[in-house]
Amino acid sequence: MKHYAGVDIGGTNMVIGIVNEAGETQKMVKIATEVKRGGEDVVRRLAEAIGQVQKEAQVTIQGVGIGVPGFVDHVKGTSVFAANLGWKDFPLADLLSAQIGGVPVFVNNDVRMYVYGEATGGAGRGFRHVLGITVGTGMAAAMYNDGRLYYGSGGRAGELGHVTLEGIDYVCNCGLTGCLETVASATGIARQAREAVARGESTVLARQFPGEKVADITSADVSKAYDAGDPAAIAVLQRTGTLLGRGLAAAITLFSPDLIVVGGGAAQAGERLLKPMREEIERAALSFYWRDLQIKPAELLEDAGVVGSALYARGRLEAGEVL
Ligand SMILES: [Zn+2]
Repeated sequence: MKHYAGVDIGGTNMVIGIVNEAGETQKMVKIATEVKRGGEDVVRRLAEAIGQVQKEAQVTIQGVGIGVPGFVDHVKGTSVFAANLGWKDFPLADLLSAQIGGVPVFVNNDVRMYVYGEATGGAGRGFRHVLGITVGTGMAAAMYNDGRLYYGSGGRAGELGHVTLEGIDYVCNCGLTGCLETVASATGIARQAREAVARGESTVLARQFPGEKVADITSADVSKAYDAGDPAAIAVLQRTGTLLGRGLAAAITLFSPDLIVVGGGAAQAGERLLKPMREEIERAALSFYWRDLQIKPAELLEDAGVVGSALYARGRLEAGEVL
């Protein structure tokens, strides 16, 4: 059986795993990214960690896939711009490959890696047209179509979180006002709950998080309050799901997927979020688009970035071309 290394690089940690060709994780290690030490130092420690997990798993890897936040050039294998890593036109694939004996390294955007993993080894197995969204700290999407990812001009396709919608007034980190992710994200859910408390609404969250503690409310707390029948929490998740559905109604009309996979931390809200989302899709899009559309939670969960990156490396090597 063939083996690949999958790497998920975030601003805080890097997760490195050995994954077999069936998509099963064999060894996994998490190390601090330590962005401040610079990109070349990150690559050196990455090469060491790959060597170490490879040894522990007693296998020889065929290739490495790396998911990186921000804009990437997946053909050249560079990180074009990653704000939270401080990288600009950083030749990640070449630098790493040179340090691991010339083993091929493939770089892609982290959300695309995640969706590639779900499409080929997770909830999307057997589907040809998969739209994947991650609802985490922010919100993003990627499209998988007959074995290939969709990139768009400059590789910028997929930033559904930065579509602005009527009815959203928050200023986004990107500078625009009204971005979907200011509501449809873990951060957005927590913020709406804090505002309900500030407005003096009668909610269990006001009692659980008195005074300055209100800043500690998470999207998971909102789900718990929802389950206790709290009207404010129900209203927050209802509104979030509805706005998410509105964004997706436009996306499915454009792409016509046969499956939407919903992943990311906030997706753990499950049906609390998916029910109003589905209702809004059915209200805002023509029935041709949703009649046979399936909507599923992600299956690979916290391993998804690593598994997706490894399966992407497998895909690139097997196809002998850019996917
Ligand atoms: Zn934005």
